[in-house]
Amino acid sequence: MVTINGREYWSTRTPTRPGYAVPFPRLGPSRYDQASSAQRRRDDRIADRVRDDRMVILEPGTLVVFQRSPYRIVEVREIPPDLWDEKWHQAFQDELARWDARPWGDRPTLETWRDRPVSVVVRPDKQPQAKPMHMRGRASFKWDVLPEHYAVCNACGELPPCQHELTEDKVRAQMILTEELMAIPAGHCLSCGEAITSRMKAERFPGPNLWRPDLGDGSAVFHARQECSHDVYRYRQQWEAAGNAAPQAELPLEDV
Ligand SMILES: [Zn+2]
Ligand SMILES: [Zn+2]
Repeated sequence: MVTINGREYWSTRTPTRPGYAVPFPRLGPSRYDQASSAQRRRDDRIADRVRDDRMVILEPGTLVVFQRSPYRIVEVREIPPDLWDEKWHQAFQDELARWDARPWGDRPTLETWRDRPVSVVVRPDKQPQAKPMHMRGRASFKWDVLPEHYAVCNACGELPPCQHELTEDKVRAQMILTEELMAIPAGHCLSCGEAITSRMKAERFPGPNLWRPDLGDGSAVFHARQECSHDVYRYRQQWEAAGNAAPQAELPLEDV
């Protein structure tokens, strides 16, 4: 599980290979013969071949990850252009316009366009009686292809990390944060936990302490510095949601 910009992206721990519904040309112009030295051109060729070698073209029986579970491909089909919806034709026209403005590689055709729609049918692995799922998507969509010997959670059967494991991890991480917060002495910064000396600027919030109610009213105080500002922001959101107006910044009690 990786978090990018606050969004979580799940991928299973079993190493997967990139899979595509149909073979299609690489994105962008071929790098062949574009590098300035013979050795670099050779390195480029080898890097491309290694990537192609890892790539899997889906076929009936290929194991893929779908909705965090193992599925088998039942069928992959090209969709003839006369069966495309209007939005696919429009997207293709947009692609041609982009290519005409800045040509690279071969001009896409209805048959070679890498985002053309394909039909993919999958079924949960080891459930031959299950109803197959029909999907329609871009040919360029990257599937995660599982090896035949893939791992599942011994407790629940999901691909690892399973929901339960992720939840446990989150609960543990939250507990550590809570313990840190509960250990902050009265008058210290609720973000970093360190003392706020009389020379430091501070941000104090009147009213009940939303994070440490045990410290009493008006006790929520933070360093007014960049380092602690993230928690000030979080606290202010909650404080304002509780019906309060903007707090006043406190000036240092002494001149430095
Ligand atoms: Zn599990
Ligand atoms: Zn602080």
